[in-house]
Amino acid sequence: MSSAQLVALPAPMCAPEPEIGDELRELEEACRALEAHTLSANTRRAYEKAWRSFSGFCDIYGLDAVPAHPETVRWYVAWMSTQFDEEGLPRFALATVRQHLAGIADRHLQEGHLDPTGHRAVSDLVRGLAKLRATRPRRKYPLLLDDVLRIVGAMEHDVYPAGISAARDTAALWLGFAGALRRSEAAALRLNSLELHLIDGIHVRVGQSKTDQANALPNVVVLPYGSRPATCTPCALHRWIALLRISEKGDPQECRRAMMAQLFAYQLDEHVCGAQGGAGLITNADLTSGTALLRATYRNRKSARIHAGGVTGDALHTMLLSRMSEAGMNPSDYGFHSLRAGHVTQARRNGASTEEIMRAGRWQKAETVNVYDREWNPAARNSVMRLGL
Ligand SMILES: [Zn+2]
Repeated sequence: MSSAQLVALPAPMCAPEPEIGDELRELEEACRALEAHTLSANTRRAYEKAWRSFSGFCDIYGLDAVPAHPETVRWYVAWMSTQFDEEGLPRFALATVRQHLAGIADRHLQEGHLDPTGHRAVSDLVRGLAKLRATRPRRKYPLLLDDVLRIVGAMEHDVYPAGISAARDTAALWLGFAGALRRSEAAALRLNSLELHLIDGIHVRVGQSKTDQANALPNVVVLPYGSRPATCTPCALHRWIALLRISEKGDPQECRRAMMAQLFAYQLDEHVCGAQGGAGLITNADLTSGTALLRATYRNRKSARIHAGGVTGDALHTMLLSRMSEAGMNPSDYGFHSLRAGHVTQARRNGASTEEIMRAGRWQKAETVNVYDREWNPAARNSVMRLGL
C-alpha cells in the first residue's frame, strides 16, 4: 500500500463503536494496571505521605492545597526546614523535602493544574536550604551531673505550693538523666511502670522505644539509690509520688495540710527512699494504678492542685528550659534530650564501656553511642591519651 493511499483514507470522526465491549473493557483494565505502575510502590507511598503532610499544613493555615499558590509551597518548605526532633536534628532531611515537593507536583499534574513547585521562589528556597544543611547539624548540648544538681538546687523544695511542682520537676529531671529516658518515654510512664526494689532502688518498665518497635517486651531501666540523698533518683520519686498520693485523698483541707507537712519536712541530708534500710515514703502498694506518673500541676500563690492527667513530652521540654533559666543558666541549645545526652557523656567520662551505655540507654547499635562520643567526648577511648604526654 502506498503512502498516497494511506492519506486518502478517511479519518474516523469519532471513537469506534465498541462491538466487542468486553474485550475493550479488559484493555481498559490493562491500561489502568499499567498506569498504576508508572511509580514504584515506595514512591507512591512517599508521595501519599507527602501529600497528607502538605494538605495538613494547608488546613492549619487555611490555605488551598490544590491548586496551591507557589507562595503556599514556599511557606511549606520554610515550615519543614524549621522542624527538629528531640535531639535537635532536622525532622525533614533535604532529600525528604525534595520528595515532598515531588509529591505536591505529582498531585497537581494529575489533576490538570500547573506545578507550583517549579516556581523560582520555591527552587531558590530549596537551594538555600541545601547550602544551610551542608554544615553540621547541632545536637542538644548534654547536661552533666553538676548541671542537674545546679538546676535542682535552684528550686524551692520546702515551701507550699511551689514545692509541689519542684518535686515533680526534680523527679522528671532524674528520670531523664539517671534513666536516660526520652521525653516521650518519661511522659508515658504510669505509676504501675515503677517497682521498688530492695537492692537496686527502683525498676522502671519503659514501653516500646522508637528504635525498638518490634520488641514486645518492655525494657527495664534501673534507678539506683544515690550515694547521697542529693543525687538519689529513688528519693526524688518517693517525694513526688507521696505528694501525688496525698492529692488523691478526698478532703481538700486535709490534703493541703498533709502536703504542707511533707514539704516543710524536706531535707537533703537523709534518704526518704529506704536506701539505708528504713521505710520509704511510699511502698509498692502505692504503685498499682495505671494513672500517669508525671502529672500536670496547677497553682496560684496560695494553693496547688495535681491534675489526674499526665504532662506531655513538650511540657517536660519547656519545664527544663524554664528551670535552667531560674538557675541562671542559658537554655538555648538545650532540651529534655540534654539529660539523655548528659547520661551518655557523664558515664563515658567516668569510664563506662559502650556496652554499659547501650544497656542503660536501650540502644541496639554501638554506632549511636559513638555519635555522642564524637560530639562530646573526643578524648574518650582515644589513643592520644596513651602517648605518655
Ligand atoms: Zn534516696
